[in-house]
Amino acid sequence: MSSLSIRTFPDPILRKVCTPVRRIDRSTKAFIDRLIETLYRQPGGIGIAAPQVGVCKRIAIVDLSSKEPSAQRLVLINPVILKGEGHRLFREGCMSLSDYTANVHRHEKVHVKWLGLDKQNHELSANGIEAICIQHEIDHLNGILFVDRVASLKTDVFRRRRYL
Ligand SMILES: [Zn+2]
Repeated sequence: MSSLSIRTFPDPILRKVCTPVRRIDRSTKAFIDRLIETLYRQPGGIGIAAPQVGVCKRIAIVDLSSKEPSAQRLVLINPVILKGEGHRLFREGCMSLSDYTANVHRHEKVHVKWLGLDKQNHELSANGIEAICIQHEIDHLNGILFVDRVASLKTDVFRRRRYL
């Protein structure tokens, strides 16, 4: 199995609204395995969405286990945020826009439902970084990038420092 290459801004696929997954079959599972492998190849990566590897389908992975040992990997198929509560400003980054970080306004807590690889419906109330990451990845499925959610492109977007 090989990992997939990351599409970067301004690739037009990052602006598309992705289509729902109608059937979870062997090819869906094989694609998800490759998506997970691609996420793990990125140092510090906590989430990835299918359009970031050029596949316009409503699939995303969230895995905070590198930061929070108790966190479980979420394979989100056709995810929907049922409810968002509270507010949090968080400094985000993205593999598809890797030269920048930005202060992004998000819900503090979200209640999300999705279809699992087991073809069952799942629901979860998430908060903290997990809630932020879920919102960031679901945005990708709707063609929205984190820099779209900043209050000011002048004061809330930062170029990453590089030490070469
Ligand atoms: Zn992203």
